[in-house]
Amino acid sequence: MTGIGVIGLGNMGRGMALTLKRAGYRVLGFDVLAPTRAALSAEGIETSATIGAVVDAAEAVILSLPTAEVVEAVVAGEGGVLAYARTGVTIVDTSTSHPDTTRRLAGLVAAKGMSFVDAPVSGGPKGAIAGTMTMVIGGADDDVARVMPVLERMSAKRVHVGPAGAGHVAKIVNNLLCAAHLLTGAEALRIAREASIDAGRLLEAINAGSGRSGVTEVNFPFWVLNGAFDSGFTMKLMRKDVRLAEQFTGELGLSLPLASATARAWAESAATFAEEEDFNRIVELQLGRTGGSGQS
Ligand code: NAD
Repeated sequence: MTGIGVIGLGNMGRGMALTLKRAGYRVLGFDVLAPTRAALSAEGIETSATIGAVVDAAEAVILSLPTAEVVEAVVAGEGGVLAYARTGVTIVDTSTSHPDTTRRLAGLVAAKGMSFVDAPVSGGPKGAIAGTMTMVIGGADDDVARVMPVLERMSAKRVHVGPAGAGHVAKIVNNLLCAAHLLTGAEALRIAREASIDAGRLLEAINAGSGRSGVTEVNFPFWVLNGAFDSGFTMKLMRKDVRLAEQFTGELGLSLPLASATARAWAESAATFAEEEDFNRIVELQLGRTGGSGQS
């Protein structure tokens, strides 16, 4: 596999494109925004003003797009990937998207002799540019095997969860937990403050015990306690993911009180935190403004 397309050259797609180029692939990028395309061209990535040119040049087309609706439009909409369908091309959707959208698109794509693998990611822009992301993967075994050499260059860890859509189920669940852990972690630090315990020492204690999570091990030390709030993942994207989780669990007919409380808190946070602020700022609902560039 030599030609790889990357559609969506934002915080994540840019890093993926640069990583794949570094790995020796011919990378052709597309983004709806001309200035974003120009910025990537300046970094040495070949870009195109049409999706058709990308599909023509690629055996795998990586998507890194904001929402399930945009993924649907880019694949099945007018002038989208399917309009230029070529047998044997695999679409790899690294966006955080809705499992039903994924399953529907996998069916449409298969009818054109192409395949669809969902491989949503964690690790942020730093992981994308270093090729050290974690991927949770959905797709048929042979489709996943075909693109595995590409996925291996983009990620340090991969879990093939099940058929098309399974990666997106796993990603939604993961981000719901992260969203909830930020709220419970902030409550833990609030307890520490009121009990006159040092926040850093409390975290150290939690991280040596069974209360630890990715949030206590990574988010608090790297993005919260130091006031950096520069994870590269925005309020807008996490609110989207929590909404996706709420929608998906509702469609499954589930009543999940803690998930509902989490969804409510993140929806209401729109009144306090702008779309482009760092998602870790949600802790400030408990802790007040704690520092960083967005400090008020
Ligand atoms: P982003 O907003 O920085 O990038 C999205 C890019 O898609 C933008 O450059 C935008 O111009 C482009 N785009 C929008 N509509 C398009 C269209 N119709 N055709 C082509 N390009 C289009 O977002 P991001 O942070 O790179 O995230 C991308 C995806 O990865 C999202 O689904 C997000 O939830 C997920 N994700 C992000 C992170 C992170 O830390 N940023 C981590 C894990 C997963």
